[in-house]
This record gives sequence, C-alpha cells and structure tokens, in this order.
Amino acid sequence: MSRIVVVTGANRGLGREVARQCAVEGDTVVLGSRDLAAGQRAAGELSEGGVRGRVVAAELDVTDFEGVRALATRLLDELGRVDVLVNNAAVHYDTWQSAVHADLAVVGEALETNVLGAWRTTQAFLPLLRHSRHPRIVMVSSEGGSLASMGSGVPAYHVSKAALNALTRTMAGDLAREGFLVNAVCPGWTATDMGGRGGRPVAQGARSIRYAMDLPDGGPTSTFTRDGRPIPW
Ligand code: NDP
Repeated sequence: MSRIVVVTGANRGLGREVARQCAVEGDTVVLGSRDLAAGQRAAGELSEGGVRGRVVAAELDVTDFEGVRALATRLLDELGRVDVLVNNAAVHYDTWQSAVHADLAVVGEALETNVLGAWRTTQAFLPLLRHSRHPRIVMVSSEGGSLASMGSGVPAYHVSKAALNALTRTMAGDLAREGFLVNAVCPGWTATDMGGRGGRPVAQGARSIRYAMDLPDGGPTSTFTRDGRPIPW
C-alpha cells in the first residue's frame, strides 16, 4: 500500500536516503528541509531516479514551531493524512567537547533540534497521523544516547539522544491506545556528513530506520533497535 511519509532533515544524509528508498517503493514522500532550495534540489534528483512514488520538498525547520505547524496545516489540507513521521533531523555530534567544559550554548542547540524539534514536529503532525490507519513515528536516535553504555565525551549529542529516547517511550505510552507504533532506532555508524568516513553505506543505515517505519499493525512499540534488533536503553 502506498503511504504518505514525512522525513525531517531529508535534503542530505540518512534522511535523503530514507526518502529515496520509500519513493522507490511507491510512497509519497514529503522531503523536509530547512533550506527549501536544498530540499527542492534533492527532491528533483530523487524524482529523476526512476522512482514509483512522488517526492515533494517542503520547508521544515524543526526549531521553528510556527513553521512546523503551518506545514502540518497545509499538508492536512493537501494530503489529508500522514502515515509515517520520521524525526531524523539532528545537529552537533560534539566529539570536541567534554561534559566538564561543554559550551552550554551548543548543548542548548542540540536539545532544541534533537529533542524539542522531534517533539514539536510530532505534536504538530499528530492530527494528520490520526487520519492514518497505520500510524508510525520513528525517532532517529543513536546508541550514543544509551544510558547503559554512556561514558565520557560527546556530551551535547549523547544527552540529547538520551532525552529523545525518553521522549520515545513517553510518546509511545501516550499513543499506545490509539494504535500508534512509536519507536527509536539507531542507524549504526554511517558514512554521512555527520558520521564521516569509514561508516557503513548510507543505504544500510537507512534500512535500519526503515525497519521501524515498516512495522506491521500490532508490531512492537516503545523499542530501541538497530537493524531490527533491540539495543539497550
Ligand atoms: P547529517 O548531518 O548528514 O544530516 C543532518 C540533516 O539534519 C541535514 O539534512 C540537516 O539540514 C538537518 N537538520 C539539522 N538541523 C535541522 C533543523 N533545525 N531543521 C530541519 N533539519 C535540520 O546527519 P546524518 O544523516 O548522519 O544523521 C541523520 C540522523 O541519524 C540524525 O538524527 C543522527 O543523529 C542519526 N545518527 C547518525 C549516525 C551516523 O553515523 N551518521 C549514527 C547514529 C545516529 P541542513 O542540510 O540544512 O544542515
């Protein structure tokens, strides 16, 4: 069945590849990008690749509450529903910092995008997801946010992803009775601008995200997986 999928931060990296894979399979993809021109370029390139579905660029800065709400309102009017929301956008893999000396302005930006961005986008899109018969919300997290393995370093990113994991569980609990599946995924170390060289191919990282997008009705909710297998919170 053809779905309507919204992906944040989809002009490059893992978000772009998730958009591509979904479009290949026939989904209608709203490719969110905070820079509309960059989103339109990416959507144009993906549409040339012989995809069955449709890729439409939309301006979407997850730190801009009014903008996110305006887009949700417009899409409700134009598309009537959303089946899958992928909260993918993120910033500040701050390997240069320690918690002891961290620049709290950087920490604040990471929380604003990686946690509150996903939170406000989810809130704004809930009315559209409620029109879906199979609503799915995917939080693109990282094993770096796992409390079980957390240690020194990368403080803004790790704390923000731990908070995103907490949001996943609370959101999943709040929406369980409505049939939503809300799950966090780690794509694995992936060769993108954020991941740098040496990581796995972007197509493989994207498939790890797609596992939680493609879950069947009655499937698991409130989980944290990589490649479809549970990883410790
Ligand atoms: P990239 O840095 O390659 O891409 C990040 C994307 O997020 C870009 O499209 C960027 O847009 C967008 N973005 C940043 N801020 C905002 C904002 N305020 N509003 C909307 N979009 C925004 O990262 P990856 O593709 O590697 O990462 C995607 C996800 O996967 C992230 O959540 C990341 O934490 C997670 N992840 C990645 C891993 C890896 O090894 N790559 C490992 C584990 C998790 P712009 O072009 O405008 O900057």
